[in-house]
Amino acid sequence: MTVTPSNFSIQQTIPGTRRSNTSVIGVLRFSFGTMGSGKSTQALQIHHNLTHGGLNGALCSMLDRKGARVSSRLGVSAEAVVIDPEVDIREIARNGGEVLDYLVCDEVQFYSPTQIEQLAEIVDELRLDVFAFGLLTDFRGRLFEGTARLLELADVAEAIQCEARCWCGDRATHNARVVDGVQVYDGELMVVDDPAQAPDVRYELRCRKHWTAGQGRPDIVLD
Ligand SMILES: [Zn+2]
Repeated sequence: MTVTPSNFSIQQTIPGTRRSNTSVIGVLRFSFGTMGSGKSTQALQIHHNLTHGGLNGALCSMLDRKGARVSSRLGVSAEAVVIDPEVDIREIARNGGEVLDYLVCDEVQFYSPTQIEQLAEIVDELRLDVFAFGLLTDFRGRLFEGTARLLELADVAEAIQCEARCWCGDRATHNARVVDGVQVYDGELMVVDDPAQAPDVRYELRCRKHWTAGQGRPDIVLD
């Protein structure tokens, strides 16, 4: 039997076209980890793989000092769409009528609960896949607002496997804010990191025990 184009049924993804005729449902996937767990690296990797697989998507993040980019600690970076509190993410997904195939969203802990709800709507109504990456808890050990809403709505929520470590070698589960060398548990959620201004604010990875104790790496004392 000769296979002719009319009965050739394998569907191929043509670059620049919607994949919706081959994909029935979208998935809202939330991958979480501490700082340094490789979230941005994974976000960049997924975006790269899907783009090279012929899909149309957008990489989204918050504006930081480096501008509208997602940057990995391993040195890779890519242009990103900036999500500020005014942005309606559904408009990014609709892309002026040429609906995208997927969104990769970094730093989702800073998205508003309304914007997280928009991600769920994008998955349900537009059938996009949404890959969200972010932190679980802030320096106070409390869920970020955006993270809490995402845990409530995500189809899949999973810890990133490339785990960061506390100075003691245990798995780091918390981000400690250290002000002038002392860990703090309250204060403004967002602190502008300005090297010219005192006090010195840093973030350190800790296991739960050392986050709770407020204990950083002990100074090494030589005999
Ligand atoms: Zn520890």
